[in-house]
Amino acid sequence: MSAPTRITHFVDGRPWDGPAGRTAPVYNPATGERTAAVDLAPAELVGAAVASAKAAWAEWRDLSLAKRVRVLFAFRELLDARKEEIAALITAEHGKVASDALGEVTRGLEVAEFACGIPHLLKGGYSENASTRLDVHSVRQSLGVVAVISPFNFPAMVPMWFVPLALACGNAVVLKPSEKDPSAPLALAALWKEAGLPDGVLQVVNGDKEAVDVLLRHEDVKAVSFVGSTPIARYVYETGAAHGKRVQALGGAKNHMLVLPDADLDLAADAAVNAGFGSAGERCMAISVLVVVEPVADELVARITERMRALRTGDGTRGCDMGPLVTRAHRDKVASYLDAGVKAGAVLLADGREGGFDADGDGFFLAPTLFDHVDPGMPVYTDEIFGPVLSVVRVASYEEGLALINANPYGNGTAIFTHDGGAARRFENEVEAGMVGINVPVPVPVSYFSFGGWKNSLFGDSHAHGVEGVHFFTRGKVVTSRWPDPGHGGLDLGFPRND
Ligand code: NAD
Repeated sequence: MSAPTRITHFVDGRPWDGPAGRTAPVYNPATGERTAAVDLAPAELVGAAVASAKAAWAEWRDLSLAKRVRVLFAFRELLDARKEEIAALITAEHGKVASDALGEVTRGLEVAEFACGIPHLLKGGYSENASTRLDVHSVRQSLGVVAVISPFNFPAMVPMWFVPLALACGNAVVLKPSEKDPSAPLALAALWKEAGLPDGVLQVVNGDKEAVDVLLRHEDVKAVSFVGSTPIARYVYETGAAHGKRVQALGGAKNHMLVLPDADLDLAADAAVNAGFGSAGERCMAISVLVVVEPVADELVARITERMRALRTGDGTRGCDMGPLVTRAHRDKVASYLDAGVKAGAVLLADGREGGFDADGDGFFLAPTLFDHVDPGMPVYTDEIFGPVLSVVRVASYEEGLALINANPYGNGTAIFTHDGGAARRFENEVEAGMVGINVPVPVPVSYFSFGGWKNSLFGDSHAHGVEGVHFFTRGKVVTSRWPDPGHGGLDLGFPRND
């Protein structure tokens, strides 16, 4: 076994070379091997990174849009050329299979492509002669230093939801990635430098709560984009807002897929397996609850179990369908729900603890798991498990299924499978979730729309990327102007009227 390497911060355009201090372990989840130790930034280092980001912002915000956009285009080209390298880093530290890791990078790339259109997106409005010989125009300006705090499950895509747009809008960014898989975001930062981004405009500090707490309280951090579990998202939102920042904090999920009796059951079975077990269920848009309207549940469950038998779980570099979970602790926590589900009375149709895994070493594996006859009171239903565990809840009608979904405290994504356009339209209108799929199980919006959930899946009022992202990373200013005109003037203390 080779010695773990050191992973450090990326500050002022280069890897930080100070002493390590506190560190956290980074694993290859497919082998169980500890491959690296990542530095955890102390408060002073985070403060220094913010200060030098602020200094770099002063020049970056004044750079012409034409020059800013050249950096964005260059980054886009570099990322496209190196996307396999970034994907390999993700597989090595997160565990997701190579094709899935490449898909993640590609979806992040699409946000960079959207950000390349920033000159058009930042165009203000202009009204000539709004009052007599008086003109009004609006502009959107950068905020200053913004913080991005990201989770382990999309180490490249989630930072890319925010970083390209925040930079395109003229801000400086301090990124605090997940300490579990920090190499991909660091590689992205190096690509930004290669693309011509001035040093300091993007800082990457690795760390944990200590680093996050500095970002939430620092007076020079003007906005915080956070993605992670609901309890931390709520804390980040409340703390950041109490310190005067605008915050978008995207939290956890429990996504339901409603299957009506008229649905194409083969399509629904494929979708349930793909969306339930892709990335080992470690996706905030994974389907974790299948709500089946009777009388088709037996038939659908049979088709799902048949497909599950064909899945190969193992090392993400070997062409398997599903990789390991991110850490041993997380794997054990997910596995604990199997006993809890059985104890609560659910029927365990496929037990992910059984069966061989295509890998060497002692990886953090759990194969696809299926529970039937799940009741909404059971922990397998109420908790966000964040693993390859799919629960089937049987209901008698569309109304019962909809009521179940709407009563759930999360509202990230949801989907309906049906051939009935009227039922689908009704669902789209009535369901309480931010992202809805119609015969599409993982309805992640394209980059020029915005990504975000409702209820406990998002705190704050701005979703990620798309036009909402541009608004989040800028503030509006309206200018009312009149040029010297000898025909106007004189004293008038009344409120300005337009005539
Ligand atoms: P997490 O909440 O444990 O960590 C997220 C970030 O917060 C990390 O950078 C972490 O270092 C930091 N953090 C952890 N504990 C903290 C604390 N006590 N104080 C301050 N900061 C802290 O989440 P995770 O396990 O990395 O990611 C999985 C979670 O993220 C799941 O709940 C998943 O649903 C959610 N997620 C949501 C979305 C979405 O769009 N809604 C997208 C991806 C992931």
